[in-house]
Amino acid sequence: MKTFEEMDLIAPLQRALKDERYKTPTPIQAKTIPVAVSGRDVLGCAQTGTGKTAAFALPILNHLGQRNRKAVSQRPFVLALAPTRELAIQISNSFSTYGKHLKLRQALVYGGVGQGNQVRAMNRGAHILVATPGRLLDLMNQGHIDLAQIEMVVLDEADRMLDMGFLPDVKRILSQLPRKRQTFFFSATMSPSIVDLAQRMLTEPVNVQIESNSISVDKIEQKVLFLKRDEKQESLRSIVTADDAGQVLVFTRTKRGADVVARKLDQSGIKTAAIHGNKSQNARQRALEAFRKGHVQVLVATDVAARGIDIDGITHVINFDIPMDPESYVHRIGRTGRAGASGIAISFCTESERRELREIQKLLGNKVRLITDHSQPPTEGRHRSSTPHGKGSTTPRSTSGRSSARRSSRRSFAPANSSNGKPKNKRKQRKGRNARQRVKQASK
Ligand code: AMP
Repeated sequence: MKTFEEMDLIAPLQRALKDERYKTPTPIQAKTIPVAVSGRDVLGCAQTGTGKTAAFALPILNHLGQRNRKAVSQRPFVLALAPTRELAIQISNSFSTYGKHLKLRQALVYGGVGQGNQVRAMNRGAHILVATPGRLLDLMNQGHIDLAQIEMVVLDEADRMLDMGFLPDVKRILSQLPRKRQTFFFSATMSPSIVDLAQRMLTEPVNVQIESNSISVDKIEQKVLFLKRDEKQESLRSIVTADDAGQVLVFTRTKRGADVVARKLDQSGIKTAAIHGNKSQNARQRALEAFRKGHVQVLVATDVAARGIDIDGITHVINFDIPMDPESYVHRIGRTGRAGASGIAISFCTESERRELREIQKLLGNKVRLITDHSQPPTEGRHRSSTPHGKGSTTPRSTSGRSSARRSSRRSFAPANSSNGKPKNKRKQRKGRNARQRVKQASK
């Protein structure tokens, strides 16, 4: 495999890569960058967490850096299309990081916020435009953006773009692009509609296939916890307060669910934020920043809002609800184990979610071992010695033999329904303990 030094990249990019301490290209970078630099179209099948942003951002910056032109008002040279605001911001940040030694200007265009700043940025002129489809079309229709000068275009997370109903918008945008251009098309999955769209967009592309799930999923320890719906919150709390938990990203199926889970965690003393489509763009960015900086330990998100979250140090991804479609599972758990780090993904599965779980197992095949835990809840008497700590407390891991290790780890879980460390009644106490016991088994 070529090193970055052996790739045909200009010096300012090599410097930026050194600044970032990137030593070796990831597989998608090794396969994509040389062909992209040579001017070919690329059809990439890869998910986030594989380093695909740099795989397209570096060849683009290389092209722009070699030309050293002034940006032209309203007429960008490069367009990167992303399905969500979060991903668009992420891509834009990557362009800034890798392009920091180049004098290039960017504009970022997405919905949910006022358009004034975006229009001004386009009027000033930007070499690179990163955009979500809806707002881009709006600004094009109002005459603020002209795509006639586009030389390179990226469609990132094309599958999600289609899932979100952006196909008509994407087609309209494509119809405005010059025929002579270089195109990069990335998708985590290759359904027939994706292949059809790719065929319309690309000219004799080089196919770059990164083994499905091989990067993000292989490094992630995946577990499934079977429990009752009303045990989920307590189990979550136990995981978050356990010794090995750092930043924890939690997924719920609904926006309301995300709010409820976040509120309950917060009330039990664990700093938590929620992001979903009903929150304003500013609130979402604030929550993401707080999570990125570690000011909150837990971020509760819905699938769409979580696209593009790229935060190092997420130790656990918790599927509070099993996702409806198995691809979302891969996207969700790919938020941990990024760029070679390892991570833990724990999915909570109730009786009614087993069908979705089977679909996930089918998609992942034998590559990934889903550890299923059918353990019976413990009986009352076996846990009489349990002395829970107060809110959000953790207990140092015991190394002094099996039984004391067990006891100490059991103690480390405080019941969710307790504000002073004492359970309110026996039934709740039993329920909490059952959930904790299963979490403990899953944490092994
Ligand atoms: P992406 O798949 O583009 O979202 O990238 C996932 C993460 O990998 C990001 O945090 C990048 O900064 C990081 N990354 C990308 N390429 C490399 C590399 N060659 N070496 C180390 N980290 C990388």
